Amino acid sequence: MRHYDVIIVGLGPTGGTLANLLALNGFSILILEREKNLYALPRAVHFDDEIMRVFQTIGITKKFLKNTIINKGTKFVNSNGKVLLDWPRPKSITENGWYPSYRFHQPDLERNLRNRLKTFKKVKLMQNTEVTKIKNNKNSVDLFFKSKNKINKASSKYVIGCDGARSTTREQMGSVLDNLGFTQKWAVVDLILKKNKNKLPDRTIQYSNSERPATYCRNVGKRRRWEFAIQNNENEKEILSDKYIWNFLKPWLSPKEACLERKAIYIFQSAIARKWRKGRIFIAGDAAHLMPPFMGQGMCAGIRDASNLAWKISLCIKNKHDGKFLDTYQTERFSNAKEYIETTMRMGEFVNAVGSENITDNISSGPDGTKSMQSIKPKLGIGLGSNKDKNRGKIFPQLKMKNGKRLDEKFSKSPLLLTSSKLAKKVSLKIQSITDKDIKGLSNLLKTYKAKAIIVRPDRFILKTYKSINDFNRINYLPL
Ligand SMILES: Cc1cc2nc3c(=O)[nH]c(=O)nc-3n(C[C@H](O)[C@H](O)[C@H](O)COP(=O)(O)OP(=O)(O)OC[C@H]3O[C@@H](n4cnc5c(N)ncnc54)[C@H](O)[C@@H]3O)c2cc1C
Repeated sequence: MRHYDVIIVGLGPTGGTLANLLALNGFSILILEREKNLYALPRAVHFDDEIMRVFQTIGITKKFLKNTIINKGTKFVNSNGKVLLDWPRPKSITENGWYPSYRFHQPDLERNLRNRLKTFKKVKLMQNTEVTKIKNNKNSVDLFFKSKNKINKASSKYVIGCDGARSTTREQMGSVLDNLGFTQKWAVVDLILKKNKNKLPDRTIQYSNSERPATYCRNVGKRRRWEFAIQNNENEKEILSDKYIWNFLKPWLSPKEACLERKAIYIFQSAIARKWRKGRIFIAGDAAHLMPPFMGQGMCAGIRDASNLAWKISLCIKNKHDGKFLDTYQTERFSNAKEYIETTMRMGEFVNAVGSENITDNISSGPDGTKSMQSIKPKLGIGLGSNKDKNRGKIFPQLKMKNGKRLDEKFSKSPLLLTSSKLAKKVSLKIQSITDKDIKGLSNLLKTYKAKAIIVRPDRFILKTYKSINDFNRINYLPL
């Protein structure tokens, strides 16, 4: 039986991101995936600047950027075409060092993640392989999987189930999935334009309508998507017939103008698992939480999980297992994911024309009376660091270094201390430091945080801000 540092169940975007982040630390990783090949059909079409930072750390942005376009935002309109709410995504670089929002084709991302994984010698992928049983031991995990009609066994220090909505890992952990209340059947129709059609909107349009709520997405290249809600008493076969779909698309497109790439019915649901860790077993991504796709944040939440968990597991492999430390994965991620789920549910209600436009706390009115919505940026839930520190749990901006590089190229493996070069000399914490010698404007930034120094975790969130140099050497920054 082979022993690995980590076994990952499922190679969707969550598993692919997590495997890459762990592989950067040189660990031996086994990935078990049920499908024979990459799932080549579209699902997620949007991600944000915070997620691009994770892809930057992994090292796929150069190639993957070619498969993306900048998303211009979303408009919510009523059945008369009146704009009820605007959600602009300005074309300017954010504090994360990227544009606020991108459109992509999920198989392109998964291909990029897989190609990057091939560059790590200690990563093994087994496809056409189904995990059936997972057992926690004191210092390891045993895992059983079906491959070529045989039951095989492998073991590892940690197992992470990134095995999607119907997660076997979640079931093996005995974790309950709590339904948060939004359940609705939607048809999703993906098309490829035969030639450009400039009359189609450049933005996402949410058609707020109680009879047939619908969404239009301007995707990459010639790809376009329409989604529409269907009632429980409607005949699914009829709805998915070409005749019905082309009739629905009549206001925008004719069969002469586009090819149907794929049509499917999904149940859009909102749910969150109660327990994300049991001993040395974890769940992440859709295995831990589900949300309707109105905000384009389901996959993003899984990538945030991977980013939070990867460095914590890495530290436990390098130093020693620490259950309390690993518990902060769920406490920090749960409330953050839940806020996205709840915001998405409010958006879903608004699209169904049964909710108000108050989707976020940050809605303002423009000069013409049109209301405008801002993206949410939830902090991490309680976990590492002190909640008395107002900056703890906020994402730290991506700064430009004087050598032309960007700060995120320094991340992924260890935390960073940011302070003045004068104070850096007085610190006895064993931690890599970045000072005003490396970054222009660092002292001004420290002032905005009212801090003499800041510790930023490998996942780019602020762990601690120091108000006085007297605190500097007293704090054990991680409970290890
Ligand atoms: C129509 C639609 C639109 C969406 N739009 C967006 C969007 O714009 N932005 C966004 O962020 N999200 C979006 N999402 C959500 C996004 O697609 C999912 O959140 C994301 O795919 C989840 O990734 P994952 O890796 O956690 O799980 P999955 O992608 O489900 O991958 C799980 C993998 O585990 C494998 N597996 C399962 N069980 C086993 C087993 N027992 N053994 C071995 N392997 C196993 C599966 O084969 C699969 O490959 C959308 C979803 C839908 C349906």
